[in-house]
Parts: sequence; C-alpha cells; structure tokens
Amino acid sequence: MAREIKNVVWLDEVNSQSISMVGGKGASLGEMISAELPVPGGFAVTAHAFRRFITETGIADELFRVLEVNVDDDEQLKQAEARAKKLVLETDMPEEIKKDIISYYEELCRREGEEVFVAVRSSATAEDLPDASFAGQQETYLNIRGARQVLDAVKRCWASLYGARAIFYRAKQGFDHSKVDISVIVQKMVDAEKAGVMFTSHPTTGEPKVIIEGAWGLGESVVSGAVSPDMYVVDPFNEEIVSRTVSTKNIMIVRGEDGSTVEVEVPPDKRDAQVLTDDEILRLASLARLIEDHYGVPQDVEWGIEKGKIYILQSRPITTIKREEEVKLVLEGIGASPGIASGLVKVVHDVSELNKVHDGDIMVATMTTPDMVPAMKRAAGIITDEGGLTCHAAIVSRELGCPAVVGTKRATTVLEDGMLVSIDGEKGLVYLGRLEEEEKKETIPAPALSTYVPITATEVKVNLSMVEATERALATNPDGVGLLRIEHMILGLNQHPSLYIKEGKQEEYINELVRNIEVVAKAFYPRPVWVRTLDAPTDEFRSMKGGEGEPIEPNPMLGWRGIRRDLTDREHFMLELEAFRRLVEMGYTNIGIMLPLVQHVNELRAAKQLMREAGIDLEKVDVGIMVEVPAAALTIDQFIEEGIDFISFGTNDLTQYTLAVDRNNEHVSELYNEMHPAVLHLIEHVIQRCRRAGVQTSICGQAGSNPKMARKLVELGITSISANIDAVDAVRRAVMRAERQLMLDALREKQANSR
Ligand code: PEP
Ligand code: MG
Repeated sequence: MAREIKNVVWLDEVNSQSISMVGGKGASLGEMISAELPVPGGFAVTAHAFRRFITETGIADELFRVLEVNVDDDEQLKQAEARAKKLVLETDMPEEIKKDIISYYEELCRREGEEVFVAVRSSATAEDLPDASFAGQQETYLNIRGARQVLDAVKRCWASLYGARAIFYRAKQGFDHSKVDISVIVQKMVDAEKAGVMFTSHPTTGEPKVIIEGAWGLGESVVSGAVSPDMYVVDPFNEEIVSRTVSTKNIMIVRGEDGSTVEVEVPPDKRDAQVLTDDEILRLASLARLIEDHYGVPQDVEWGIEKGKIYILQSRPITTIKREEEVKLVLEGIGASPGIASGLVKVVHDVSELNKVHDGDIMVATMTTPDMVPAMKRAAGIITDEGGLTCHAAIVSRELGCPAVVGTKRATTVLEDGMLVSIDGEKGLVYLGRLEEEEKKETIPAPALSTYVPITATEVKVNLSMVEATERALATNPDGVGLLRIEHMILGLNQHPSLYIKEGKQEEYINELVRNIEVVAKAFYPRPVWVRTLDAPTDEFRSMKGGEGEPIEPNPMLGWRGIRRDLTDREHFMLELEAFRRLVEMGYTNIGIMLPLVQHVNELRAAKQLMREAGIDLEKVDVGIMVEVPAAALTIDQFIEEGIDFISFGTNDLTQYTLAVDRNNEHVSELYNEMHPAVLHLIEHVIQRCRRAGVQTSICGQAGSNPKMARKLVELGITSISANIDAVDAVRRAVMRAERQLMLDALREKQANSR
C-alpha cells in the first residue's frame, strides 16, 4: 500500500495491476518490464501526485467549478478549457512533487550517462476504470530534455485533462470531472537507427516462425506504411534465419537537431542494404519468443535499435481492436470467453424473459442458469453480474464460442434494454457503443492457429460440457477429451433425474445419457474421452422441473455434490453406471470414468464396487479420480494402492478448497490464484507419486488453459493437459516450447558435463 501514496514511481515498480496509480499506459509498460523485456526506462508521476497538486494548492474547488458549463455551447466550453488550463498551468507545483520529479529525472540521466531526451505522456485513469475510455484525449510531448522542461511537460499533460474535447466527452458520458485522475509517464526516447515491427508467430498459419519487418530510422516509417521494409523470417527453435527479403528504402524518419521528427532521404549506399545484421535478427527472434511466452498468444511487437541495443516499444495481440470515437468503457469484469461482440442489451431477470433475446443481442443477467442456454445460443455476447472464470456462464459461453464478461458486479443495474454495447471477452471490458475488430494489415489475415498442429509428447486434450460443442472441440485436433462434464447434458434435459425415477422413466433417462455421451465418444474414437460422473450442486439443480426436493444448503460448494452425492443417492448412480456399461458394450472402450470431488479412498472403493455390481468390466475401461480436494492430494498414495488408471487435477475446486476462496465470488476473486505455491505444491506431490506408480496425470480445471501453468506442468512431468476449446492452440504451443526447452537444457547439461 505504501507505494500507492508515492508521487513518482519507476516503471519497473508497477505492473498490469497498477492502473489506478499510473493509468493504463504506465501499467502496460510496467508489465513488459516485469517480463524482463528491454523497455526504455522511465518513471511515472502518479495519479496521487496530481491529486495532491490540486488539493494542496487549493485549486480543486475552483477547477471543478469552472468546468460546470453547458458543453453544447462552444463559447462556454472554450472558456471552461481556458480557465481550467490556466489554473493548472499557472499554479505552482508543491515543492515536494517538483523535487521528486527532478530527482527521478536526474537519476534517469545518471543511469543513461547523459541528459536524456524523454517522451512525456499522459495516462489518464478514473476510479474503477482503466484509461481506455480516455485514450487519445490527453497530450504527449516528445523529445523533452532538461529537468525544467520535464516539469513543464508534466504540467502541460495535467492541463490537457481539461482540453475542450475531454471536458465535452466526460460531460456527455456522465463522468464526474472530479473523479478523473491523470498520471504522467516520463520515458527515455529511443533514437532508433533502425526500427520496425515483428510478429511472434506466423500471422497466417500460426507456425512458430518469427516475421520481422525493419527499416532505417524511427519505426513510424514502417508502421505508417511510408516505406517498404526489409522482411526476415526466423525459425526461433533452430535459431535459423529462413529467409531475408531486402527492399529499396528511399526515406526514413529521424530526430532533427531541435528534437522534432523529420523525414529525410536514405543515403544512397544504404537504400538497398540489408537493415538488420544476422545477429540482430536472431536477438529479435529470441525476444519474440519471450514475449509470446509471457502473454501466451502471438503478439505484434514494435521495436527499435539504438546504438546496437534493442528496445521493445509496444506489444499487443496480433488481432487488436479499434475504438471508435464515441465508445465508452462502462463496466469491467472477468474476461470469460474471448472475442469482441456488439449488440443491443437485453437484461434477463428470469427465464420468463428469455424470449426477448434475439439473434445478435447482448444478453445481460445476474448469473445464467442451465435453462437459459437456448437464449445464450442466440446471443452475440453475454454479460453477468456474478461469477468467476468457471461459473456456468463462463463455461457455456466458451463452448458456444460466444464472447462473455462475467463478474461485473453491476451489469444488470448499469445497463438497460436497447443500449448498444460492445464486449471484449478477452480483457473483460464492456463499452457503450460499437467496437470493431481492426482490419489487420491487408496482406496479413488473422491467425488460423489450428492449421498447424505440432506433435507434443505431453498430450493436449480438450474439455467439453455441451454436446453441441463437439465439432468445435474436434476442430482443435486434441489428443482426446480430458473432461466431459455430464451436468450440462442432464441440466439440458430440463427434468430432474429424480423425476425420471419417480415417474418410472429410468430407461428413458439412461437412453438420454447414452445418446449424449455417445456423440462425443464416437466423434473422438479411439482417442480417450474421460466422462465425469455427476457433479451437481443443489442450487443449480433446484431450478429444474422436479428439483424442488433439492436440499437448501448454506454453502452448496461444500455440500451435497460430486461422488458423495452419487454414493448416497445410489439409485441415480446406478442409472449412470448402466449408461456406462452399455456404452462399453457398444464398443466405446475409449471411455474413462472419472469421479469428482473425491476426498477419501473409501469413496473410490465404494464407487468401484458399484461399477462391478453394475456389470462394468473394469479391465476394459479406465477409472480415475479428480484431484480437487486437498485431502485427496495428500492421501494420493492410498488411491494409487486401491487402483486408479488416472487422476485429473480439478484446479477450480482445488484452488478454492486450498485457499478458502469461493471460486464464484467476484468479491474475493483477486485472491483466487491457481498458481499459489500451496496449490502447486499439492500438484507436484501428486504428479511425483503417480509417475512413480505409472498412473496417468492430467488437469482439467481452468488453470490448464493457462499457457504459463501448462509450461509449469510439463516441467513437473504431467502426462496430459486438457484445455478449453479456445485455449487448446495456445496451450499446445506452450507445451511444445516447454518440452523443447527441457530437451535443450538436458543436451546443454550433457555437453557441459562431457567437457
Ligand atoms: C475443477 O474443479 O477444476 C473442475 C474441472 O470441475 P468443475 O469446474 O466442474 O467443478
Ligand atoms: Mg470441480
């Protein structure tokens, strides 16, 4: 917390979480530095310093008063701008802030060994909102040199918060001027001799090839298309330059004497010369690898080389979004299903309102329930108040390929029917207005990652909950299904299993199970499909027809669900087992039976006994358990001894039970961390024991869809990783990299030992 109140912070002290302190721009630069990328050094004058400036000097009241004008009246608007800017520019900065800025600038100069040119950029931020909605409304000052000039530029950035356009925009969008803050980023200018862009993977095929474009001078000439750059293609694994295309470069953009940027002719001897040396090409390619590893998806990167040193100036996913002028960020939540969607809001308070959701609408609900799936299928996007990455809305929308933002806390209060909104399901943002997918450079279509499928030793599988998503899942070319949740197919029947039993329709129920599971088992045959027995929380099943009898539990997450439920409701469990028996008899020996929420070996023993009684040939099917309760992880040896073919980490539950953090509670979602050392410790322990005993290990929790976790698991020796449909490609790449790295490390060690 102490950092929160600093006037100035180094960029390497902040990261993506620091938006309220240093705005979106500062946070993103900090994140790249924390990934150890060579980002030009610098510091941020915090939003807090700006607050202190207006309060300690006593201008705040007057400042916000002069902004109270009719913004539709040009004269009044101009006057507001002039008065507010004058107040900011003519009021002296408190000494302490001045001193801090000067000392950071001097330290920056000391580090760089000269009085450096810096870029001074505004990075606005508002309470609860990142700066996205203010992008482009405040100023940037390039090529500033000298402490006095820096102080002056910081003041000018602050003043730019009160430009006419910015005042107008905030007033129109209902933002309180007094709630908007501004941080100022002061960063060393890179005076590049050579610069350009690179794609960390081939943007058309998704192959792990780095494509580098470079030209003389500053990167603007490449970004703006003013010059045809050289193009180099590198295979980063073999550290081999696959091709070089050298173009004629007639112009370049450089820093002029006075610090301004000017366009000049390229000297004749350099026009047709290769811009980058082979060493520079390879160094860039290895940075590309680091960057893609850090972000987990292919990136479009801007770079520059000054005095032989490479700088990374910006990195963003290959498909980026463009904001239209009038869009406004209204809500933030958790990006639950990637993609951009725009449409009209339809708030659904309960199932009686489902009909108002038409094709292409954005469905908004407190939380979705299984009976809402038909409307979810029509929606172009989904927004919820509640929930985390593994809630119903998140799982279903990912499988439907429908962008979704969950856990926004107040979507149903802030949004109204008929509003045009856009959602960014990757970042978890909701905007008023229409966002459009930016047309990527015409020659380079968006990546089609699954066209290139590398073979990995660690199997990469897919998770599936909705039978309808089988085709999409299959299209990712997975090595099998690591989790088939049957709750969703049962919930989809919209009749509680106990009602089937009560009405004597057991046969009908078994047939429904067989019919649904067979679709997946057949589509993937002979690849393994691990089907999980029912894991039905009472709160979700109560809303079904015939579900009235579900007990009301104070905490359903810790209640009557998973294998404990099936073992006490044996009548139902036997129907499930009969369905499995028939499927095996039909020849689907690729099925594995997976038991959820197991916490004691007795449960495995009892379940296996019932399987035998049901006539399931345990020689023909694999049986395994989910490791999602710390107790199961800690006593894994007993399960191994009892006899299991596989285990699969259910990290959604394992994390919540290890950390005491409700996975669906957005109020504690910041504490929910699947990579917490305690969770990793349990995982490592189980993998070690299972490896020794020849038991397969896998993961089917959401964490398996995180490339960073995937790498870690490969290092720990997991047998397979099961990811969500949208994450299979990225996970496969991460697995491939981790495996190659392990081989390389082993080889290097061997070489070192033989020397
Ligand atoms: C898990 O807990 O990680 C898991 C995959 O199961 P579910 O999300 O269905 O509880
Ligand atoms: Mg679970």
